[in-house]
Amino acid sequence: MSHPFHAIIHSPFLPVPFRPGAAAAPSLGVNVAWPSRALRLPRARASADKREQAMEEQGGAAALGWAARDATGVLSPYNFSRRVPRDDDVTIKVLYCGICHTDLHVIKNYWGNAMYPVVPGHEIVGVVAGVGGGVTRFKPGDTVGVGYFVGSCRSCDSCGKGHENYCAGVVLTSNGVDRAHGGAATKGGFSDVIVVSEHYVLRVPDGLSLDRTAPLLCAGVTVYSPMMRHGLNEPGKHLGVVGLGGLGHVAVKFGKAFGMKVTVISTSPSKRQEAVEHLGADEFVVSRDPEQMKAATGTMDGIIDTVSAWHPIAPLLALLKPLGQMVLVGVPNKPLELPVYAIVPGGKGVAGNTVGSVGDCQAMLEFAGKHGIGAEVEVIKMDYVNTAMERLEKNDVRYRFVVDVAGSLGSAA
Ligand code: NAP
Ligand code: ZN
Repeated sequence: MSHPFHAIIHSPFLPVPFRPGAAAAPSLGVNVAWPSRALRLPRARASADKREQAMEEQGGAAALGWAARDATGVLSPYNFSRRVPRDDDVTIKVLYCGICHTDLHVIKNYWGNAMYPVVPGHEIVGVVAGVGGGVTRFKPGDTVGVGYFVGSCRSCDSCGKGHENYCAGVVLTSNGVDRAHGGAATKGGFSDVIVVSEHYVLRVPDGLSLDRTAPLLCAGVTVYSPMMRHGLNEPGKHLGVVGLGGLGHVAVKFGKAFGMKVTVISTSPSKRQEAVEHLGADEFVVSRDPEQMKAATGTMDGIIDTVSAWHPIAPLLALLKPLGQMVLVGVPNKPLELPVYAIVPGGKGVAGNTVGSVGDCQAMLEFAGKHGIGAEVEVIKMDYVNTAMERLEKNDVRYRFVVDVAGSLGSAA
């Protein structure tokens, strides 16, 4: 089984260059013939039909969601059914669901991997409505979270080491392939109910506000996990955060809670005041201003790059001290350029990161609970999601849209 983040055709994350007319996948480091769109569409449609049939055969509770049907990404009401709950399943009534930039990449098929109809949403906070007979950790009424994935093989090396997020059989919460259930495409949190094995359900600590917690389930763990792994959680160290969006603004909050010096590196001068006065950043550097970038050269121990679009990374690597570490978490749909001169002389590291394990996510939530960390959110109703997606694409959100699913889905359908 190939890891879906590595496989080309099924990659939920690799920005497969699904460009009309493009004949080959550029810059993936392997010589892979890339079928033209004309060749690929009929096959995609056939397997979509199969998946839909599998979904019909699920036979579980009726669910109401909002789905994108094609690459316009326009979302509209969609009826489907969840799987019949198994012994270890938790049935969750969805309360809030954040909108991650990944949802936008996927519904518009920018990564070439959309399995329509796509019900987005993987930043879910809800309340347990029912549990299977074998569930030991949750009971009806518990407040819980679901993040980017809802399954893994639980027998491979990665799963054994507690890195389910890197399992080749990881099942994504939305637009994933649920092989254990007829290969049906998974449907995410833009829906009233979701059924998830208890192994992938998170406990939301008391005291956290639910709408502000939802984005932590993806954005939060995606920055927290590499900060822990690369020692970017030590007081006094200097962290650079590139891109002040959903992921970036939470990284600033974690960095400050760890006692670090935090500098935001942004293309938006209009975000300076809020970054410093409200989010607690120590400094703000406009990445398109060469003077400001020069002044910050060689000052940072680590950088978390959250940018969703193509951008030059060599100027960012220049901001690291020798032996500094950059972690890429943003997933632009075109390959970034990494000139060796940018890392070899300073012995610098460049790493990637995909969300975090279940354990990382629970630890992140506990940390957020202790430090009162939540995302800055604009809570919206379901019938605003299409406008929200347009605004997200234009970088017009401070800093995360969260859909009040329980409070608006019924009336919006
Ligand atoms: P977001 O809220 O849209 O934030 C992205 C930020 O990137 C923007 O706020 C903007 O910040 C900056 N930016 C946008 N266009 C840019 C450009 N052309 N050049 C330079 N900077 C630009 O998105 P998000 O939800 O935080 O997600 C960010 C990326 O992470 C997406 O690609 C998403 O798919 C990916 N992601 C990855 C993981 C993972 O596990 N690795 C998890 C979640 C999301 P400024 O205005 O400050 O410049
Ligand atoms: Zn996400």
